[in-house]
Order: sequence, then C-alpha cells, then structure tokens
Amino acid sequence: MKRVLITGAAGFLGSHLCERFLKEGMYVIAMDNLITGDLRNIEHLMPNPNFEFNHHDVTKYVHIPGDLDYILHFASPASPIDYLKIPIQTLKVGAMGTHNLLGLALAKKARFIIASTSEVYGDPLVHPQTEEYWGHVNPIGPRGCYDEAKRYQEAITMAYHRYHEVETRIVRIFNTYGPRMRLNDGRVLPAFIGQALRGEDITIFGDGSQTRAFCYVDDLVEGIYRLLLSDYSLPVNIGNPGEITIKEFAEEIIALTGTDQKVVYKDLPQDDPKQRQPDITKAKEILGWEPKVSRAEGLKITYDYFRSLPKERLYEESNHRGFESFKKEDEKI
Ligand code: UDP
Repeated sequence: MKRVLITGAAGFLGSHLCERFLKEGMYVIAMDNLITGDLRNIEHLMPNPNFEFNHHDVTKYVHIPGDLDYILHFASPASPIDYLKIPIQTLKVGAMGTHNLLGLALAKKARFIIASTSEVYGDPLVHPQTEEYWGHVNPIGPRGCYDEAKRYQEAITMAYHRYHEVETRIVRIFNTYGPRMRLNDGRVLPAFIGQALRGEDITIFGDGSQTRAFCYVDDLVEGIYRLLLSDYSLPVNIGNPGEITIKEFAEEIIALTGTDQKVVYKDLPQDDPKQRQPDITKAKEILGWEPKVSRAEGLKITYDYFRSLPKERLYEESNHRGFESFKKEDEKI
C-alpha cells in the first residue's frame, strides 16, 4: 500500500486531496496546524483505518515513521485576508516548511509535489499566463509575503530536484472553488455566497472589470493527481480557462442564489491583479487533462454546500481559532 503525506490536509484543497488518495487505495497521513484549516473538513475520514491525522506545524522539524511514497505540500494561508493577518507565518510555511518537507522527501526517497499558484505571475503583463512567463510581482506590497513565499518554494523545489535529484512536481493553481472553502476568509466566492445567505449587500472591489477564471475543485484534484503520477518536473498550470469579470461573476451568484441584494462597490485592494486566465496547453499535452465541470454545475454544488451548513457558521469569524495567540507564540521562536 502506497503511503502519502498531505500537509494542509484540513484545508479546502487538502481535504479533497485526502479523499482522492484514500479512494486510490493509499494510506493517507494528514498534517495540519489548524490555523486556517478546520477539522470539520476531515472528521468524516477519521474512522477510516487508512487515514491518520497529525496536528503539527511543518515549519518545525517533520518526523514521519516508516516509508513514504508521496508528499503533497498544500499547507499555506491562501486568502488575501489571511496573509495580511499572518504574513510572517505565510512566508515561513512556504520557505521553512517547504525546506523541511524536501528534506523529508530526500530522506524517504519520496516524490514531492508543491502547491504553487497563479500569484507567481503577480499582476500579469502576459495574458493568458503560460508557464514560461516569469511574472510581474511586487515583493513589498501586501501580497508580497504570499507571492514571494510561493516563488521561493518553487526555487528551493527546483534546487532539490537538480542538486539532490529528488523527484519533484510543481502545480500552479489558479482560482479554485467548491465545498469546504472557508466562509468569511475574504475570497470572492465565499464572500458573495455568504453575503447572499446572510441577506447582506454584495461587495465588488473596484469597478468589477478585473477578471478571474474559476476551476471546480474535482477538476483541480484530477489535474494534481495526473501531474504527480507524470514524469514532468517543471511547473504546470492547472485551472479553468473560462475567464469572467468579477461583475459578471456577482451577477451569476445573484441569479443562482435568487436574492435581491444590492451590489455595493468598495476600493480595489492594492496590487489586485487586473486579469488572470491560465494557458493550459501544457496540462492538455502532458497530462491529457482539461476541466470537465462547467461553472453552472460547480457553483450549484458549492451553493448547496454552503446552504446546508448550520446557520451559525455563516456568522463565524474566519479567524475564530485565534490568529493572534498563534502569532504571539510563533514569533517567540
Ligand atoms: N473581490 C470582490 N469582492 C469581495 C472579495 C473579492 O470584488 O468581496 C474581488 C477581488 O478584489 C479580486 C477577485 O474578487 O479582484 C478575486 O478575489 P479573491 O480574493 O477571491 O482571489 P485572488 O484575488 O487571489 O484571485
């Protein structure tokens, strides 16, 4: 039985990856420090004898007894609100966390895949973004801690690949959505659906002409799985090329939720990318992958999920586990 370590396992993507690898008949070691992750995302997996959970922060030395075949490093805050609140931890999990896990991959002769991001392209001057584009990133802006952590993560991964010959894979993930996204973490989809369910105004930042392209989580997981099993070690974009403006996206959510909420316009956050769309030629050619789930289908499933949550969760603060006390402890070290 193959054994896989998944970091960030209690997060949105991590929890879906745990399910997928269990379905593939593997033994899953899930790891999370539960700062932005949530045990409620994986509690249904706890009774599975092929699943174990380790409450651990990967910026500290990672010890796993026994063999490991694959390591998936998906631990990181991933919403603009999170990395504004915990910028140092965002840098540490991308830098020190990745270093620890690459060391573990080397020691165990495990294949290693990192969750990189379209944020490595910054506010892109090339459209759609191909893997060859080096990006247009402001290292000292509010998104710098995330963007540069992810760029460093790619750099150290390539260094371990070239110097130590660790088998590595890099997936550049574009905006992804689906059940178990965290409500109230500021990302646009949970923001709009949460607002609709609470009967609040829908907040569009800027004039809503900025674009994004949204991929349903099952499609993303399929792309990651194929990339891990491939022999391709350079970065691959995985995302859905269906690009829309945020204003159009708000209209779709309003139509879906059947609410008559007002749209209000707020300031555009600094360095908010004006356009984003993956070029997925590589994924198609190398992995035979392309997204299958339409936005209409995916949004419906996601809305049904949010609607099924107990009402009080709609009002739960996104940092209900206390970023502040975590930060204080972490920064002593
Ligand atoms: N956005 C918005 N209203 C919100 C939250 C986000 O208009 O309540 C915009 C945001 O400014 C950005 C886009 O939606 O242009 C996507 O934001 P998100 O934080 O989801 O992801 P990212 O900017 O990292 O793609």
